[in-house]
Amino acid sequence: MLHSSSPYCLCALSPFWFLFLPLPPLLPPLPLPLLYMANPYTSPLSPLPLPPLRLSQSQLNRLAACPRKFQHTDLEQLAAPSEPDQQERQAQGTRFHLLMQQWLLGLPVELLVQEDPQLQAWFSAFMAVAPKILTLADDRPVWGQSEHSRTLAFEGYLLTVVYDLLLANEQQAQILDWKTYPRPQNPRWLLHNWQTRLYPFVLAETSAYDADHTAMIYWFFESGEQAPEARRFSVAYDTIQHEQTRHDLIHLLTQLTRWLERYQNGEPFPQVPLESKECDRCSFAIRCDRVTLREETRSQQPSDQENAFALPSLADIQEVAL
Ligand code: SF4
Repeated sequence: MLHSSSPYCLCALSPFWFLFLPLPPLLPPLPLPLLYMANPYTSPLSPLPLPPLRLSQSQLNRLAACPRKFQHTDLEQLAAPSEPDQQERQAQGTRFHLLMQQWLLGLPVELLVQEDPQLQAWFSAFMAVAPKILTLADDRPVWGQSEHSRTLAFEGYLLTVVYDLLLANEQQAQILDWKTYPRPQNPRWLLHNWQTRLYPFVLAETSAYDADHTAMIYWFFESGEQAPEARRFSVAYDTIQHEQTRHDLIHLLTQLTRWLERYQNGEPFPQVPLESKECDRCSFAIRCDRVTLREETRSQQPSDQENAFALPSLADIQEVAL
């Protein structure tokens, strides 16, 4: 939760002391979020009404990609452990975020970077462009806070965001996000990602900064054999996108409410269509019978495609057009 007093007590140690000015009046503290009981949706004995469900951008992405995956992962907590190299990449990304938070707090980071060459390379890339990253377009004093969290009550849910760094002055606000992988060649997936859409939406809804004075900026720190460079990807935000996001959120959350009501009556969330590529990389493919069903379907195509969809086991699968 935000406090209107200085967010950092060690601000004098940071070269970017201007980040630690008091919270501007355009960013009021949020009320305490409502208490949320963990996963009451998994119990058929849960009494109604249920407490509001907290939703993050990653949960919205999962829900939009496949409602059944959301059920398995977020309601039943069945996610399979990731591969060791993926776990290591995630751990390194987490360490970099902690390093950045520590540096922005004005705490020493030398020991951390000395022990980890990858962290050192990323941090060097950040320092090379830090003045550019940590200033806004106009010359007004800037306020900043890392790991800044906000919660918006919306359509019966609590939409939660955590900004890696929020920069603001009296005119504008910028949400900054660190990514420890290469900037995507095709930015379309990033534009459609719920993080890109939800983060500025929540800020515009919970502060006095309107959509036209809010920006979302990703900084990509690549790893590899060459020295990493920080690459910027800025996403313009405006009133039109804000209203489109509101419309899409209402649509998705209305569907979620309907699926949750059915789930409480024993009906599972819908799956994506059988031919969806989403199942190719999904750890629930066996649980969903997608491996067997797809092999059976392929063996009957193209000569007998209609019969393939008439197999008795397919009748048990609920499909939904997303
Ligand atoms: S295997 Fe396919 S249908 Fe099942 S959860 Fe994964 S994406 Fe959804």
